[in-house]
Amino acid sequence: ELDGAPKEEDVKPPPLAGVNVMNIILIAAECAPWCKTGGLGDVAGALPKALARRGHRVMVVVPRYGNYAELNHTGVRKTYMVQGQVWTMVLSFSFTLLGYQLHQSIEVTFYHAYIDGVDFIFIDSHVFHHLENNIYGGQRLDILKRMALFCKAAVEVPWHVPCGGVCYGDGNLVFIANDWHTALLPVYLKAYYRDQGLMKYTRSVLVIHNIAHQGRGPPEDFSYMDLPDHYRDLFMLYDPVGGDHFNIFAAGLKAADRIVTVSHGYAWELKTSEGGWGLHHTINENDWKLRGIVNGIDTKEWSPQYDAHLNSDGYVNYSLETLQTGKPQCKAALQKELGLPVRNDVPLIGFIGRLDNQKGVDLIAEAVPWMMGQNVQLVMLGSGRPDLEQLLRQFESQHSGKIRGWVGFSVKTAHRITAGADILLMPSRFEPCGLNQLYAMNYGTIPVVHAVGGLRDTVQPFDPYNETGLGWTFGRAEAGNLINALGNCLVTYREYKKSWEGLQRRGMSQDLSWDHAAQNYEEVLVAAKYQW
Ligand code: ADP
Repeated sequence: ELDGAPKEEDVKPPPLAGVNVMNIILIAAECAPWCKTGGLGDVAGALPKALARRGHRVMVVVPRYGNYAELNHTGVRKTYMVQGQVWTMVLSFSFTLLGYQLHQSIEVTFYHAYIDGVDFIFIDSHVFHHLENNIYGGQRLDILKRMALFCKAAVEVPWHVPCGGVCYGDGNLVFIANDWHTALLPVYLKAYYRDQGLMKYTRSVLVIHNIAHQGRGPPEDFSYMDLPDHYRDLFMLYDPVGGDHFNIFAAGLKAADRIVTVSHGYAWELKTSEGGWGLHHTINENDWKLRGIVNGIDTKEWSPQYDAHLNSDGYVNYSLETLQTGKPQCKAALQKELGLPVRNDVPLIGFIGRLDNQKGVDLIAEAVPWMMGQNVQLVMLGSGRPDLEQLLRQFESQHSGKIRGWVGFSVKTAHRITAGADILLMPSRFEPCGLNQLYAMNYGTIPVVHAVGGLRDTVQPFDPYNETGLGWTFGRAEAGNLINALGNCLVTYREYKKSWEGLQRRGMSQDLSWDHAAQNYEEVLVAAKYQW
């Protein structure tokens, strides 16, 4: 043995990313498990870990809305100038009265946690406090200004905030921004740095999780952006109905080096006038840099085998091997917890989601009279629009013993429904990716979905002749179609047990983890880096 030669156990395997190892900073308005209102939070919590597993140095930057445990104050403080009279808790004023606007300076501090190979940086400022349960709450202008502040601070994090003693710096660096809330980051990167010949090799990717929210406003909103006047055009959009307006998402899409959206189906829909919500021209013009990548799922959080919400109250963890005993036990536990008759022979249908127009709750509502003529149980978990919340309560009182309408946001209940239900309904009008159908399939729960966006990508329709497919899909968001698909699903559940089990097993055997998606993201980051 040669003196000084590395011992076998000291030789680290090369990173999966090979020569493409990068410094990656993902920035988002929400991140599970700290703050989450939907799929964006799940993605921000899981994708970075999958990228870190490939060998990248990865950071997540997110606002500190609450007093989260286990964070360390980095001691770094920065002050940002913002315009506007709405924020009142100001630490210092510079009384430059511009028109009627005050310039205010706002102090920002940075907290850090290192978890599962990822640096999590929380940006702290009074503007984010008291929003813990209402991330997107407040007046339009307040939201806009706090997102602008967040992006200004985030773009500087690689310079000012050391992680494990060393700042990320600008070498080999790429930002991943998400939705309109952080769409300003690619713009600030360009205007504050790259236009000045700085951060020349830093790139930005903007991910579209939902195009329905865009950060729109009147043209005057540009004055809050703190950008040189020649950037104004980047934000202006002509809307044949609403006229000229200011649009943050439009600016981000143009400024970013690459655009990703969360499924192939949605990437296609975004380019149509119905699916692009006024941004289809912008997206078509930037089609060359757009790619669809289906989200993965966090297989630690969302697997029936390890799910922490299934080890009490009569629930059990189960796997492909124990499906036939474990899942019925979870169903019984769910029926008991919900106050429904404990009967294994009655199909239990679930719905989980934000109660708004997107999720097609009204289609379920239209189908309820038909469903109540069937021997089924229905549980709906959701929060959102007050009239739809009221509807859930009304169903429950009209059909007690058959329907449970759970109004609220409960992660634990979402997990338990996913495990205990036989069928999951997702009649979404549009669905960029959709995570609940992925979770459902991983738990042997069969999805019945509107074939749109990510739902069409991920739920291949059941073919009884070849015994292939993963669930039932329907082509137009209409109650009649939902009834038709669910009807076929119920027949299979009742009469073709072997087919049903095949559906469950195929769903559970898929690799839905983030590893595959992370590899695709890496390809996009590399393309951005070399400007391929
Ligand atoms: P979206 O991002 O449009 O809300 P997704 O299906 O991509 O839809 O993600 C929704 C996520 O939010 C899932 O993790 C789902 O379980 C969760 N969720 C939605 N509503 C609730 C609720 N009322 N209680 C608990 N979790 C919920």
